Amino acid sequence: MKFTLLGSGAVGGVPLYGCDCPACQRARTFKDHIRRPASALLEYAGTRIALDAGLADFGQRFPSGSLDALLLTHYHMDHVAGLFEIRWGKGASLAVHGPVDDKGCDDLHTHHGILDFSSTLEPFQCLVINDIRITALPLIHSRPTLGYFLEVDGARIAYLTDTVNLPATTLAFLQSHRPDLMVLDCSHPPSDTPRRNHNDLNLALQLHKSIAPLETWLTHISHDLDAWFMAHPNALPLGVLLAHDGQIWHGLMPGDQ
Ligand SMILES: [Zn+2]
Ligand SMILES: [Zn+2]
Ligand SMILES: [Zn+2]
Repeated sequence: MKFTLLGSGAVGGVPLYGCDCPACQRARTFKDHIRRPASALLEYAGTRIALDAGLADFGQRFPSGSLDALLLTHYHMDHVAGLFEIRWGKGASLAVHGPVDDKGCDDLHTHHGILDFSSTLEPFQCLVINDIRITALPLIHSRPTLGYFLEVDGARIAYLTDTVNLPATTLAFLQSHRPDLMVLDCSHPPSDTPRRNHNDLNLALQLHKSIAPLETWLTHISHDLDAWFMAHPNALPLGVLLAHDGQIWHGLMPGDQ
């Protein structure tokens, strides 16, 4: 089993266009610090499932027929932009599972081309693709949004972006199905003012504590949060890390749990 974070960035990415803050300057100098749109890939026994498709080069990364399914969290542009080009393609259709959202994004639903949007998911609905069990978890965002709980090869991964806090039902589910790896929205530095659509670091750490996964990766990271961590490099507790693009999790190792 291999879970790869393809992108760890907030909308606008890092470096942010036109910004010269320390984090954006660093990302222009050192490519390892670039953050692309939040997305991931799960691979297990020949099955490949992508989570979100905001990457501009989505079509080049995933040639026709190379994905078994795509799980969409929601229809904001930083999560679907890569679909606009591939929809006009030829060959096998791509099954896109996501929340019920009649608005979708631009004309993606009316001119869907090779994309098959027929399988929408309700909160807590389960879907099994080969040996991978997927549960849709409702999140709190400005559009209908689903996180995904992935169970594969004895390991449990919760992919939770975009969200500010979690609905009580999702929190209870995660507390009773404790994930091994939790990938969690954390767009903003710690803040006294409550945020509307994304977690700040205080809220993300609070969720880490109450869900208690083996490991939490923070994702959907803004340049502001990167700059804050440059000034506070030791601010994270054990078991929580600021994810980076290309980060890989290989499942449970002997001794985990
Ligand atoms: Zn910046
Ligand atoms: Zn969003
Ligand atoms: Zn987003």
